[in-house]
Amino acid sequence: MHYTGTIYRPPFEARSLLLQVTTGCSHNRCSFCTMYRDEQFRIEPMEQIEQDLEEAREYVPGVTRVFLENGDPFALSADRLEQIAVMIHEYLPKVETIAMYASIKNVIGKTDEELKRLRMLGINELNIGVESGLDEALTYMNKGYTAEQAVYELKRLRAAGIDYGANIILGSAGAALRHENAAATAALLNETNPYLIFTGTIHSDPGCPLYEDMQAGRFVESTFEEYLDEEEELLKLLDLTDCYFFGLHPSNIVVMQGNLPEDKEAMLEMIRRRREQLANRLDERPVRYGEGAVL
Ligand code: SF4
Repeated sequence: MHYTGTIYRPPFEARSLLLQVTTGCSHNRCSFCTMYRDEQFRIEPMEQIEQDLEEAREYVPGVTRVFLENGDPFALSADRLEQIAVMIHEYLPKVETIAMYASIKNVIGKTDEELKRLRMLGINELNIGVESGLDEALTYMNKGYTAEQAVYELKRLRAAGIDYGANIILGSAGAALRHENAAATAALLNETNPYLIFTGTIHSDPGCPLYEDMQAGRFVESTFEEYLDEEEELLKLLDLTDCYFFGLHPSNIVVMQGNLPEDKEAMLEMIRRRREQLANRLDERPVRYGEGAVL
């Protein structure tokens, strides 16, 4: 298979065939993100994609799930995605789901009919960096959409039958707005019904505006206690009937996962226990390592 640039995938796509159809991210301006900073967004040629599919047919003919690379392949036009999906089914007839990273902005340009067509071709379970339901946080992160737009576009996706997993960044509104962030994010999620919620806490690496702001004290990160307050509040307010809460990213203060609503109480109990464990350090801010991992 042919890959260019840095290839990322969510942990739950470990068994999927990774098929590169774009390089970089079409937005590439989120204030916290360094993933594709040095890469120019590019569309991979169809010939290259076909060559990769020929190779995949030889080595993994029975694969059932494909994850399209890279940062937001859903930025491609509906026609282009349709061509790619048709080609995938031609070479790999057992494929049931074609997933990928996507952004709210990628949905804006697609009609309801196009979304339905893409769903019929197996495009589903988009992994979307929603990050927050609070406009102040979305503006600060430079996401390029408002909470109202996010709700509108996510509802259109859901109406077309496309499931989505929401990436949520705890602490993304800063310490002062943590309560507002929890409430607004829960409201957005409750209204748009993701099948999965992937949480992490805000952190940054050198080379992005958030890093500069944190160093200069312009963005005040939450303390352990404030992070725990926000996550507890978010979890309490979530009212979802069939959603997987995936909080295993190393940047989380509480590393946990479970089904909602069944495991909600057990997860709240884990937050309470973590609060006890950190009793002497609740007013500290996390010290971080690679990928924002918390000690
Ligand atoms: S967070 Fe996602 S949308 Fe934003 S710049 Fe990074 S890859 Fe692109």
